[in-house]
Amino acid sequence: MLKNILTGNFFYQYVALVGEEAARVLVSSSEDNAEVYEMALRTFVFEGDGKLVLFDTGIGTKHQQTMEELGFHNLKSLNDCLVNAGYKPENVTDIVLSSIHFEHCGGTTLFAEDQSVQLAFPNATVHIAERQWTSMINPEPLEECMFIPSDVMETFKQDKLHVLKDDEKLCASVELRLVDGHTKGLIVPVIHSDKELFMLVGDAVPTSVNLNLNYLDVHDLNPQLALQVKEQLLNEAVDRNMWVVFPHDAETVAAKIKKNADGVYTVFEVRSL
Ligand SMILES: [Zn+2]
Ligand SMILES: [Zn+2]
Repeated sequence: MLKNILTGNFFYQYVALVGEEAARVLVSSSEDNAEVYEMALRTFVFEGDGKLVLFDTGIGTKHQQTMEELGFHNLKSLNDCLVNAGYKPENVTDIVLSSIHFEHCGGTTLFAEDQSVQLAFPNATVHIAERQWTSMINPEPLEECMFIPSDVMETFKQDKLHVLKDDEKLCASVELRLVDGHTKGLIVPVIHSDKELFMLVGDAVPTSVNLNLNYLDVHDLNPQLALQVKEQLLNEAVDRNMWVVFPHDAETVAAKIKKNADGVYTVFEVRSL
């Protein structure tokens, strides 16, 4: 079973989400001409094959005040959300971090009462692509602002870190694919659940607005490769009738898509999780 947990929202400029030209079109056609887009911070929970797996952990609570000043809002503790949904944080067996950009991994750790950084899910193995870990240790100038090493360093210190060099199977129902473009070593999980296939596209396709191949996020490290990867992932989703699961779309959690004759991808069915 795959579930979605919303741990917060943030405001993001259209121009950053889709690029300058596309933003002009979108802003002029939107009802209120808003230049800012409301985004979501989503964690996905998979229960099956004897595992309880979290996919991404949001921005966490350690830097809440700074984050609120940056436009993040409705922030909730992932641990509290899980407890409210009937899960026990100590039962989480695995955490798959699509990337360790700060808005995907902050909830992996939290501050204890003495302000020391602790693992939020003490028994979980944390999966990160090796290329992503290396990018954090030795960041490129453009990407440095996306990493907060204290969010994940404790996983290494406490021997809970598993780095992926290549694609891997986490368990019978969960495949982990590595792609580049948005960043090096983005993990794209493909999950078989309840006779359906789900592709957690991460920041390769952050929202349904980004289904347009040319609408690329300003933070894509290698835009040309990001575009190619997005096309490959979306073609596979169309061919295999997968649910495309978006990490940051405030309205559309998961969608089935089709490719029109002119090569444009559109949503034809949506669902919640
Ligand atoms: Zn993101
Ligand atoms: Zn990112």
